[in-house]
Amino acid sequence: MDRIDFRSDTVSWPTPAMRHAMANAPVGDDVYGEDPTVNKLEALAAEMVGKEAGLFVASGTMGNLTAILAHGRRGDGAIVGEDSHTFRAEAGGMAVLGGIVPNPLPTDVYGRMDLAAVQNAIYPDDPHFPNNRLILVENSYGAKGGYPIEPAYFQQIRQIADKNGMIVHMDGARIFNAAVALNLDPRELTQHVDSVTFCLSKGLCAPMGSVLCGTAEFIAQARRARKLVGGAMRQAGVMAAAGIVALTEMVERLADDHAHAKTLANGLAQIPGLIVQPELVKTNMFFFALDEAAPVTPAEFVQRLRDEANIWLSGGYSRTFRAVTHYWIQEADVALFVQTARAILQ
Ligand SMILES: *Cc1c(COP(=O)(O)O)cnc(C)c1O
Repeated sequence: MDRIDFRSDTVSWPTPAMRHAMANAPVGDDVYGEDPTVNKLEALAAEMVGKEAGLFVASGTMGNLTAILAHGRRGDGAIVGEDSHTFRAEAGGMAVLGGIVPNPLPTDVYGRMDLAAVQNAIYPDDPHFPNNRLILVENSYGAKGGYPIEPAYFQQIRQIADKNGMIVHMDGARIFNAAVALNLDPRELTQHVDSVTFCLSKGLCAPMGSVLCGTAEFIAQARRARKLVGGAMRQAGVMAAAGIVALTEMVERLADDHAHAKTLANGLAQIPGLIVQPELVKTNMFFFALDEAAPVTPAEFVQRLRDEANIWLSGGYSRTFRAVTHYWIQEADVALFVQTARAILQ
C-alpha cells in the first residue's frame, strides 16, 4: 500500500499468505456443497463463535440480510439501534426485501439500547401491530467508534427476547475486534444470540466475504435465503481460502491495530484544534472533531493530509472524522499522521 489509508479497515489488502492460499485452494461447486475449502471455512467459523453451522456469504450486508430473511417473514418487527449498520447502512434491505418492519431505538455512547426502552418496544398481542420477532444487536458498534460491548448487555437482551418468544441476531462485523479488546473468547460475546455474522474482510484482511453462523436448521434456511438474493457461489473456495487465513492468522494481531488507534488518539488529543476522547478508543477506530477555532476547514484538513503526507482520511463535509487502523498501518504511519496534523493546525 503506497497511500496511508485511515479511511476504513475495508481498504486493507489481502496478505501474501492469503494470496498463496487462494492460488492453491482445492475447490468444487459450493451450490452442490462440494467446495472443500468453503466447507472448511464454514466449520471453522461456526466453531470459533460457538454455533453449529456457518454459511459463507459475499458481504456483511448479505450476512445480515440472509439472517433476517431466514428468521422473519413479512409483517414481523425488528427492534434495532437507530444508528446501527443494519438499520441505517444496508439500503433498507430488511424492509425492502423482507417486509420486516424496523423499530429503531436510540443507543447510548457505547451503542447499547436502553433495556427498559427495548422492553417498552415489545408490541401487545394485537392485530394493529407488527409481530414481535427480532432484536438486532451489533458488536463492536460502528457508529459509536467501534466500541466493544460487554456480554452482560447481550445476556439482558436475551432475557427480554426469551420472555417474548423473540430471536436475537448479532451483526458482529467486527466481533473479533470486540473479543480481542475485551480479552474474551468470541463465544462469550455470541453465546446469548441465536445467530451472528462477521466480516472476513476489514481488519482480518480477506478480500471479501462474511460468515453467518447459527443452528444447523437456521443455516439451512439461510442457505435458501442466500440463493434467493443471488448469493450462492460456485468455486468460492478461492475466496474462502483467504477467509481461513483470516481466522487462523489475523485475529490475535488485531491488538496491534487497537494499540495504533490508541496511540493515534492520544497523539491527536495533544493538538490544539482537535477534539478527541482517547478514553473511548478500545478497538481500531474512533471519531474525532475539528474545533470551530481551527485555522483550516474540514475539507482543507483532509486535503492537506493527503497532499503533504499521502494520508487518507474520510470525511471533510462535517467537522467530525473517523480514523481507522488496520494491518497495513504501521507505527511510523501513526507518528506521521500526528506530526502532519500538528503542522497543519499550528
Ligand atoms: C461493514 C459492516 C457491515 C457490512 O459489511 P459489508 O461487507 O460492507 O457489506 C455490517 N455491519 C457493520 C457494523 C459493518 O461495519
